[in-house]
Amino acid sequence: MRLRTLRDLPVQGRRVLLRADFNVPLQDGHVADDTRIRATLPTIQWLRDQGARVIACSHLGRPKGKVDERLRLAPVAERLSQLLGVSVRYAHDIVGPEAHALARELGDGDVGLLENLRFDPREEQNDPEFAAELAALADCYVNDAFGAAHRAHASVVGVAQRLPSAAGFLLEREVTALSRVLEANDHPFVVVLGGAKISDKIGVIKQLLQRADAILLGGGMANTFLKAAGYQVGRSLVEDDHLDTASSLREQAAARGVQLLLPRDVVVAPSLDDSAHRAVVSVDAVPADAAIFDIGPETVAAFAAVIQPAALVVWNGPLGVYENPAFREGTRGVAQAIAACQGYTVVGGGDSAAALQELGLADSVDHLSTGGGATLEFLEGKQLPGIQVLMEHDA
Ligand code: ADP
Ligand code: MG
Repeated sequence: MRLRTLRDLPVQGRRVLLRADFNVPLQDGHVADDTRIRATLPTIQWLRDQGARVIACSHLGRPKGKVDERLRLAPVAERLSQLLGVSVRYAHDIVGPEAHALARELGDGDVGLLENLRFDPREEQNDPEFAAELAALADCYVNDAFGAAHRAHASVVGVAQRLPSAAGFLLEREVTALSRVLEANDHPFVVVLGGAKISDKIGVIKQLLQRADAILLGGGMANTFLKAAGYQVGRSLVEDDHLDTASSLREQAAARGVQLLLPRDVVVAPSLDDSAHRAVVSVDAVPADAAIFDIGPETVAAFAAVIQPAALVVWNGPLGVYENPAFREGTRGVAQAIAACQGYTVVGGGDSAAALQELGLADSVDHLSTGGGATLEFLEGKQLPGIQVLMEHDA
């Protein structure tokens, strides 16, 4: 099986419906962070250079199937116009008269934008009629919205089934990078996992356990592993209903000869707001009235030593409550080790990506995945509907 890409799709003089991920934060009627818009510019530019007529579409926020004035895509059209240096025509509807006029009147190399797809309840239902109405606007379809690829929605799946279709450059890059992690032929392969909860990451741990040489655990989820291993974790975030899961994952790692490292020292405090009373303690000395909010410096050093010689590193989940500068050092130390690693480095997950941006290290890794849920589902080994539909089946 092979992903159909832009190079497979003749687009000159044709109307191309481009599903993008323009789900950007807005502030006072303007785009507050245009990272996601920039991410899809190479695809848009390529389409324009080929003489395609680009009809872009996206969802924004959760309007729940109704028009929400605050979630119109006008600010996106404005920002996209600035970034492209050409005027982007904006339709105030999705499949209505304005959208049809736009589709009819765009010239070769022009770009238009439809209204927020989720204003229509049929989008999230993958309604066949809605998919057909979207398909009627264009001659072919390109998906560059990796962040929505795990959703079987009309603009992701239904329309791709009705038009000649292909992945855009961003989607292609995501599939290439994340497939390299799943297939993991590079060793040593080191997996770094943090984040709040073990329950969100069980599928990912199980999947990556099959090929990893080492798994380094931090963040809130490490607390459950520590408790399962017999440590007292005080008032730390723990999932008591997953103590058995933690033990079982440890046994699976041991059986496969995978090195599974837990924190040795941690940063504790009486509460998140009381960071003035924080302290670094050994994991066997966590006070009963304190909680773990970060990994300690000894742990950072131990993790960095494993990361340094790795050929492949994948990281998901902050190692501590990085939102609070008092508990950011563990995440910073590990992020710096990953940035310095000579191997192929991949970072995924909404908060992990945000942490990396915040630390100014986003450009120091080989691949920073743009998907939150989509990245995790991909790493679990699940087939994502938006990608499946773009696969060429070998005859
Ligand atoms: P991602 O979005 O990268 O997949 P998650 O959503 O799983 O990451 O986890 C991120 C959250 O985990 C952050 O909000 C962070 O504050 C929290 N977290 C990390 N370490 C701890 C901890 N020790 N205790 C409580 N929460 C933690
Ligand atoms: Mg998150």
